[in-house]
Amino acid sequence: MSIILQITIPCPLRQCFDYLTDNSETHWQTGLRVLVPFGTRQVVGIILDVITPALDQDLSHLKSIIKPLDTHPVITDELFSLTLWVSHYYHHPIGDCFQAVLPKKIRKGETADLALESVWQVTQITDLDHLGKKQQQIFDTLKQTPAGLSQSEITQQFGQCRSSLLGLEQKGYLLQQQRPKKPKIYPTLSKPLQLNAEQQKVVSAVLEKKSTFSSFLLQGITGSGKTEVYIQLTEKIVAEGKQVLILIPEIGLTGQFVERFRQRLPECIVVLNSSISDGERKQSWLLAKEGVADVVIGTRSAVFSPLNKLGLVIIDEEHDSSYKQQDGLRYHARNVALIRAKNAGIPIILGSATPSLESLHHVQQQRYQLLELNQRATGATLPKVKVIDSAGPQVDSGISSELYHAIHAQLTAGNQVLLFINRRGFAPVLMCHDCGWQATCSHCDARMIVHQRRNVLCCHHCGYIQRLPQQCPKCRANDLNTYGAGTEQIEQTLTRYFPDTPVLRIDRDSTQRMNAFSEIVKEIQQGGAKILVGTQMLAKGHDFHDVTLVGVLDADQGLFSADYRATEALAQLIVQVTGRAGRGDKPGEVFIQTSQPQHAFWQGLIKKGYQYTAQQLLQQRSEMGLPPSGSLCVIRAEDKQESLAMQLLSEVSAILNQYSQQQVMVMGPVPAIMEKKAGRYRAQLLLLSQQRKPIHQLLDHAIDAISTLKLARKVRWSIDIDPLDLL
Ligand code: ADP
Ligand code: ZN
Ligand code: ZN
Repeated sequence: MSIILQITIPCPLRQCFDYLTDNSETHWQTGLRVLVPFGTRQVVGIILDVITPALDQDLSHLKSIIKPLDTHPVITDELFSLTLWVSHYYHHPIGDCFQAVLPKKIRKGETADLALESVWQVTQITDLDHLGKKQQQIFDTLKQTPAGLSQSEITQQFGQCRSSLLGLEQKGYLLQQQRPKKPKIYPTLSKPLQLNAEQQKVVSAVLEKKSTFSSFLLQGITGSGKTEVYIQLTEKIVAEGKQVLILIPEIGLTGQFVERFRQRLPECIVVLNSSISDGERKQSWLLAKEGVADVVIGTRSAVFSPLNKLGLVIIDEEHDSSYKQQDGLRYHARNVALIRAKNAGIPIILGSATPSLESLHHVQQQRYQLLELNQRATGATLPKVKVIDSAGPQVDSGISSELYHAIHAQLTAGNQVLLFINRRGFAPVLMCHDCGWQATCSHCDARMIVHQRRNVLCCHHCGYIQRLPQQCPKCRANDLNTYGAGTEQIEQTLTRYFPDTPVLRIDRDSTQRMNAFSEIVKEIQQGGAKILVGTQMLAKGHDFHDVTLVGVLDADQGLFSADYRATEALAQLIVQVTGRAGRGDKPGEVFIQTSQPQHAFWQGLIKKGYQYTAQQLLQQRSEMGLPPSGSLCVIRAEDKQESLAMQLLSEVSAILNQYSQQQVMVMGPVPAIMEKKAGRYRAQLLLLSQQRKPIHQLLDHAIDAISTLKLARKVRWSIDIDPLDLL
């Protein structure tokens, strides 16, 4: 008898598909992968449901599956229902959600079996025969590692030695076993630190709730020992046979953080970030699924790791915007992690020196418990902060004289200096002095950025590159000037002023090469007078002991942005970079250059601190009904033809207004602030509500009507729930 399999297919359609099978040998169940015909292709789908058809049901129109790919579900029950939740909450096609959740090799239909390897161990034999020299060496080495060594580890040490090993096995001295292949790491283990009273309180508070869903916001200033708290909690939870999921932001160097965990937990830690291969990702994913991995440390998408014994979730730098995916399935990993913790009935810790307004709001609403670390764990003091008027005296490239003298003094004392400017390249503007022509991108409503070293103009929005012109393309004058400064120019200027001091530039251009970032970091950590010039990349989490001065060169960008979240981001950034100064035993100083030194924002942030500024911002958001008080959704559209995006969104807006109750305000459509990007014209429609639910109900009602619009099949469009940027 035939049965019907309801299958989700990797495609942008908001539906699943029914297929038939006569195969009665397979135990059909949800979560199995099957190969099915789809149009002219064969694709890998996942079973959502198994249905026995009614006796008189006409099945003639259904296609049959080609074959099953699994005998057991590839996805755990918990992850399966999480994926359904994600699809529903983010109003995103289910097939696409499974694509986001599964590692590529699994998606493409490869086997879901753990890769195994031979591991050799000594047996309990006491009296040995005389052994050959090599056999004796191997035997002695293995005797010191009772857990055994893998074939490849032994080969690495002793060269080709398979016959020696087999010989030892034959004599009964060694035992060979097949075990899951784990990542190979040999850290030197280090001892736990004695927690201070504040840290101890945090650990106890979390452990007290270890078997219930509870959300903690751990607000701890940089250097207050949050990571140490994470490590000790992880040790405790792992010791109970449970797994821990740790999310970290997308930063070039996750190395330091991971290394500290590895030095303390000899258990199996797998790391999931953008630098691992597809093969490693699959194996790590399976190690997590089979319960071999005790700890998963990873960036955003690691929130979808299959973990059946999950006991604790930790999100470090919880305010970081990289937790939000900005295309495709636009999920927020913090949000998904909270749902996971809730489903699993376990605690979740959100850690940051500068918590997001969302999380602070939840603390006010008593949904999260606030835990604080207010002392630097090493006893180092926080740096002094000074605001400098950028219109005052300057040396060059926008560096004020006051900052210059401070840099000079710190370098003379053998210290390191970190200058922060959130713009890569040489200069943001190239302009003709005669006719006023400016270099703009022909694909975007944006200026081209001057990259002098590569001798090009480059658009940072679409990547379009042009040779740097010597003459004005409009009036042929030879009078082209640059305005403003980026990292490349600051690097050049400082090299000129301090020819004997190494200047290291850290931005996306200088760290593109594999390992470039960690090489630069190593160089910084060697100490000695150095100047570091970098973008955002440098603001995050790195512990540079010799940095005593931090300069922020262009703090104004965030003050005058059209984005409602810009001031929150600026406050977080300033506090984070401030945390980079004086982490060692030397005190630090911070200089912020701004055209608005008297602005209330600076006065508040510097005199009263992040907490005060955050409360001010929360108050403003609440008055405007914006998140985290209200709830937002953006529907975006883009097309090469100028009017189509706006036209589609007008139609969408009409549909929404048919269904809309008064609780949801539908605003727009309006063209995006940068309307043209990468050759496409963009527009957006905003949904705002005082509660979360009405927006979701409205979308649930309207989505079918929207999807069937003729233009909706032609124009690219997307739904962004809880969007981070509205630009
Ligand atoms: P955070 O993650 O909050 O920035 P870390 O955990 O990195 O802080 O701690 C900052 C520094 O303080 C590190 O060098 C760490 O080894 C040290 N540290 C943390 N906790 C303690 C402690 N209880 N005793 C002594 N040193 C500590
Ligand atoms: Zn000109
Ligand atoms: Zn462009």
